[in-house]
Amino acid sequence: MTDFAATRAQFHLPEGVIYLDGNSLGPLPRAAEGRIAKVMRDEWGEMVITGWNRAGWMDMANRLGDRVGALIGAEPGHVVMGDTLSIKVYQALASAFELNPDRSVVLSDTGNFPSDLYMADGLVCTLGDAYSLRTVAPEELIGAIADDVAVVLVTEVDYRTGRRHDMARLIETAHAKGALVIWDLAHSAGAVDVDVSGLDADFAVGCTYKYLNGGPGAPAFIYVNPRHADVARPALSGWLGHEAPFDFDLDYRPGAGVQRMRVGTPPVLALSVLDAAMDVWDMTTMAEVRARSIELSQLFISEVERQAPMLELASPRDPEKRGSQVSFRFHEGYAGMQALIDRGVIGDFRAPDIMRFGFTPLYISPDDVREAAAIIGEVMQGALWDTAEYRKRAAVT
Ligand SMILES: *Cc1c(COP(=O)(O)O)cnc(C)c1O
Repeated sequence: MTDFAATRAQFHLPEGVIYLDGNSLGPLPRAAEGRIAKVMRDEWGEMVITGWNRAGWMDMANRLGDRVGALIGAEPGHVVMGDTLSIKVYQALASAFELNPDRSVVLSDTGNFPSDLYMADGLVCTLGDAYSLRTVAPEELIGAIADDVAVVLVTEVDYRTGRRHDMARLIETAHAKGALVIWDLAHSAGAVDVDVSGLDADFAVGCTYKYLNGGPGAPAFIYVNPRHADVARPALSGWLGHEAPFDFDLDYRPGAGVQRMRVGTPPVLALSVLDAAMDVWDMTTMAEVRARSIELSQLFISEVERQAPMLELASPRDPEKRGSQVSFRFHEGYAGMQALIDRGVIGDFRAPDIMRFGFTPLYISPDDVREAAAIIGEVMQGALWDTAEYRKRAAVT
């Protein structure tokens, strides 16, 4: 059994704050500060350029890929780190189109995160008139996998409502219809049980600054199904995805397997922070984290509905049908969230009217949930959000 008090002690949580926004940016793992200081002092400081070999910097993208891979059901050697999630979406999409050359549509849904849709749109513009992006309502996604669909780009957990796609059924249907699937794990990795290999996803991509606590701008990851890994063309053919980067050949030859999805020089400092952040996962299992997350989110829903009935649940009530977040609709959701943040309950707001709260068992306890719900009750019952100051929008919501 996981000792969740012990996992919580691994994080620095700001004084007086109940942090329900780890679905957007995980908090600081205590070990990260020491780790990055050591990497700077002992490796960058003392080894300078020899650190690429002596400190193993060049292999970090693969080592960390394996650590992340262990949480998403990937076998070692099939996940690699680098770049940002938007870039990895682009690479996966471009590869998928080439693997399915007789088809020209990328299918996605309106619950997807806009950047995924923007990247798809950018790619089909580059590819020309024959290609297109088709988006349908999330509930219609499976039914919309038609004969012209080359690839389904699906984010498992809706960033606004937490609604979760049935990935097993989706992948099975897509394959039966001759389409490939890119599974975006942005709100799944570290949040729900994922089995990319067991469910036979073609590609999976995700970021590490949300539930994996890798810090602002932490590198993304990509998984390529071993069936495709040696044939997929990475689209962004950078030198570190080359078979032999240090031969400095003028011709590009893709590296073996997922290695080819690497693009340029890895962010060593960011990867070392992520490495420290991943240590906490050695103290638990994904199944236990998921069970606890359901316990926390069910408690939150019942407490909030009791104390703040003016909030309308926007997430599925069935915990199996949602990720690790709970959202409520409120007509003054932005002001409501500012009032909560002012009182130490940090969630976030997503336009037009969603107040979003993330549940992260590694550092959030049932007592936190009860306390947060009580504060939400006070703010809502007393309309404490109703001030000009709370309505004033900041750049990042
Ligand atoms: C958070 C998130 C992103 C962010 O992409 P970056 O390139 O890391 O900024 C993209 N897609 C989804 C589904 C997300 O949830």
